[in-house]
Amino acid sequence: MNDKLSVLLINPPIYDFTAFDFWLKPLGMLAVASKIADADFRMFDFLDRRHEFYKDKPQFKPVSTRCRAEVGSDDWGRGRFFSEAINKPDVLENVPRYYRRFGLPAEIFTDFLKTNKSCDFVFIQTVMTYWYLGYKEVIEAVKIHWPKSKIILGGPYTKICPEHARNLGADFIWGDIKNPQHKVGGFRLPLTNVRGSAPPMWGLYKNPETAAMKLTNGCPFKCTYCIVPIFEKGFTAKPLEEAIAEFKFLVSLGVKNIAFYDDALLYKSDEVIKPFLKYVIENKTKVNFHTPNALNARFIDKEIADLMVKAGFKSFYLGFESRAEDFQKQTGSKVFDNEFSDAVENLVGAGADKKSITAYLILGHPRFEIQDVEESMKFVNSLGVRVMLADFSPIPGTEDGKLCEKYVDMSEPLMHNKTAFPTILLGNDKVNRIKDMCRRLNRFEI
Ligand code: SF4
Repeated sequence: MNDKLSVLLINPPIYDFTAFDFWLKPLGMLAVASKIADADFRMFDFLDRRHEFYKDKPQFKPVSTRCRAEVGSDDWGRGRFFSEAINKPDVLENVPRYYRRFGLPAEIFTDFLKTNKSCDFVFIQTVMTYWYLGYKEVIEAVKIHWPKSKIILGGPYTKICPEHARNLGADFIWGDIKNPQHKVGGFRLPLTNVRGSAPPMWGLYKNPETAAMKLTNGCPFKCTYCIVPIFEKGFTAKPLEEAIAEFKFLVSLGVKNIAFYDDALLYKSDEVIKPFLKYVIENKTKVNFHTPNALNARFIDKEIADLMVKAGFKSFYLGFESRAEDFQKQTGSKVFDNEFSDAVENLVGAGADKKSITAYLILGHPRFEIQDVEESMKFVNSLGVRVMLADFSPIPGTEDGKLCEKYVDMSEPLMHNKTAFPTILLGNDKVNRIKDMCRRLNRFEI
């Protein structure tokens, strides 16, 4: 008789106006799972674009091109999710966009639950607070078909909105589990045998081509719109041997694209990223690296730029937000425009293609008046690199989240939506005008 604990890991569907697979992987849940010994794991990832459901859908097939929303998938592991239009929640009624459910259809999951033996535990990865309708959908389906399974919800949503998460229907919130010996409903929570530094459980995917890594935790900055300094006290880094073992494991699985999920990947670079990249270069390992979480341009000196290009970084996303000095000073002084242009120069000097460099600029920040977004876009464009507007999502608990209370009901997570908030703050016409300008600049027409 098999008396091992059984655990199902679930990456839920997304309910939103837009969603794109920008290297979206449930790294946190896979890392937690790796700490649990002697359990049988299964995985259901609604956002897995390599699922056989996509096989007869040519519009989602990989094409050899760079990231463009109108194509199915690109050669760096990004692409479109299958999606269905659904009714907008009442609170978002005034946002003039279609609302959709992204990810594998619910029937595939129902079928999975019906045809598989139930697990003792079901872990659900959460990310954005305003995606909770997807988490709710999964909880409800599990409760119907596997009523005895204990559901554990973890991830950013549960940390940012713990009370809301506690009322969503799961049995536990990961952050509430203080004592791994604690018994609930006859089960002992499965953290009794920590495996030490085992890498995240990427082996649960069949032939994964894309994965994510995190070498560090925390960030030395305190940007007023960001939750990282509130949840991660201090800055820590994974020991080099552990980072290399994790990397080698991913390579052994056939992973071709690795996205770094670090918040401050380049901080303390002599101790963290430089030795790691030197290992990659010396071992001639062919993997494409990406930085969707934004790099801090301040730290991109000539040596780092050179190591990154040589090690195989193919895309460089730099957090810039605004060139306006007042805005930078009032929001945390993350980076200034001279530092940004130096970083671009260093990357290009090291051999990076200008088109692979993108600056994130916030759109719809409550200090919009001093942000000078149009000027900032023109500045980025003048350096020959791309602009990506990052729609602002207000986060409760942050200074800027507080500023947003006068515009939206922050106790309703759907109102943190990144499409909704800029539209509510600036109006649809203005948002469209700025987005059009961004598109034109990226085509280098201005
Ligand atoms: S630098 Fe980035 S991660 Fe750090 S606090 Fe600012 S926005 Fe957050």
